[in-house]
Amino acid sequence: MNNAATLTPTAPAKEAPFDPMTSIDRCDAGTKDGVSCNAQAWARVILPSGLKLLFCGHHMHDHHDELIKTGATVEDYTDKIPQ
Ligand SMILES: [Zn+2]
Repeated sequence: MNNAATLTPTAPAKEAPFDPMTSIDRCDAGTKDGVSCNAQAWARVILPSGLKLLFCGHHMHDHHDELIKTGATVEDYTDKIPQ
């Protein structure tokens, strides 16, 4: 991933450490074939190890409870998915 872009010194970002999701954010979940899902991501997850992952609505739903149990920080924007 190329995240060399946005440093925003004026952003308060205390309660919301994440940027809004954009259409270039893609799901990091893998399928059974070892291929990335690559659907548009609607949730960010930071694992206790510091690893950041993006998930589409489908995979966020699949993994949410499991991620919470591991102590991951979940930023869920799945309610923003256009119907
Ligand atoms: Zn996915």
